[in-house]
Amino acid sequence: MGHGGQPNDVKRIRRNIENYGDPYITQAGRAEVRMCSVCEAVYYDQRWYLKNQVDTKKLRGQEIHYTVCPACRKTRDRSPGGIVHLSGDFIRQHKDDIMNLIRNEGDRAMAVNPLERIIDIEGNGAGYNVLTTNERLAQRVGKALHRAYGGDVTYKWSEDNKLARVVWRRD
Ligand SMILES: [Zn+2]
Repeated sequence: MGHGGQPNDVKRIRRNIENYGDPYITQAGRAEVRMCSVCEAVYYDQRWYLKNQVDTKKLRGQEIHYTVCPACRKTRDRSPGGIVHLSGDFIRQHKDDIMNLIRNEGDRAMAVNPLERIIDIEGNGAGYNVLTTNERLAQRVGKALHRAYGGDVTYKWSEDNKLARVVWRRD
């Protein structure tokens, strides 16, 4: 699948993503150019680029292998590297501003490192959980909240260091 790497193939695959089966199967271990079939990020020169950052000259004549990028795999598996817990009465009155601030941090991080993303923001009556692909973004969201709105922030790492929990609270 995907040999020849025409952009039309990408659109077709994306439309059929629900019927796509196991994306791991298409993973090409040593391919030099890979494209994520979910977000269309492209891997070349040993790093990932967002679709709109790709230097198309670099892809000319290359065989493109389809895969699912690590950020989309974490999203699909709901396997975050960082979680920011938000709680306190303050968020009820400032929900929109807080969500905008969090999304802006996510966009900024992803523009620098395409694999650094917000996976989801879950809410319930008691507060919100922001799931991020890595611990750095969770820390940055915590710092940004504290800088903008004060409150209390704490940072905790799991014993294996794979998951950072940031707790921000303002009453
Ligand atoms: Zn992706």
